[in-house]
Amino acid sequence: MARRKKIYEGKAKILYEGPEPGTIVQYFKDDATAFNAEKMEVIDGKGVLNNLLSEYFMNGLNTIGVPTHFIRRLNMREQLVKSCEIIPLEVIVRNYAAGSLSKRLGIEEGQQLPRPIVEYCYKDDSLGDPLVSEEHIAAFGWASQQDMDDILSLALRVNDFMSGIMLAVGIRLVDFKIEIGRIFDGDFQRLVIADEISPDSCRLWDIETNRKLDKDVFRRDLGNLTDAYAEVATRLGVMPKNSPQLIKPTLIN
Ligand code: UDP
Repeated sequence: MARRKKIYEGKAKILYEGPEPGTIVQYFKDDATAFNAEKMEVIDGKGVLNNLLSEYFMNGLNTIGVPTHFIRRLNMREQLVKSCEIIPLEVIVRNYAAGSLSKRLGIEEGQQLPRPIVEYCYKDDSLGDPLVSEEHIAAFGWASQQDMDDILSLALRVNDFMSGIMLAVGIRLVDFKIEIGRIFDGDFQRLVIADEISPDSCRLWDIETNRKLDKDVFRRDLGNLTDAYAEVATRLGVMPKNSPQLIKPTLIN
């Protein structure tokens, strides 16, 4: 029997109705997908590690006054978050060239950018999340000018925070993607960091060796993805002690 009502199932997470109005339970799956789900695999332990890592980053952001949807972690695979309306944009911040930027502009991967570059992609899997300009965003009404000012400022604050924590454990934050949600409070709306922040949505390279500790390990067949994520969790001190048992997948409903 289902424990709670499923609201949405995505590639890496399932959303369930939360215990109180305005809350949602995010369940982290072990499924890994890349290239718009052309490549798929189940990777034991990925969901647990992303749940723990996303908790760590979101808690830190809340603590320094960057609002997020995160309320608390419920167990090894689930977290309680505030329900919000997701703005249909992937907000990407880049510190070093990699991935689609390198391909698009012919810049060698790993080259430091003159300053952080923020890009927006329209969230639509059927279109492959195309890059869009602020002109498109304004013209199609996906976000207002005020929203865009707030989103830019949030994205750069997340970048400074994440770059700092990563640098402290010998990891370079090459780039990352965040999603932004709107929370309505009467006539007011607040923008918050939503979805997840994890090695699924960041590029993380060891500072000394440039070893990749993120989803590129899966995308580019560079080794064991759980080992890479566990390395990040261990360096940040969030790796559970009895990890082999805890990272096994559990059936939820
Ligand atoms: N990213 C993501 N989800 C996406 C697309 C990108 O989390 O649907 C992240 C990706 O992990 C990387 C950053 O955004 O950290 C920039 O990705 P890029 O545009 O280079 O795309 P990719 O090379 O992954 O196709």
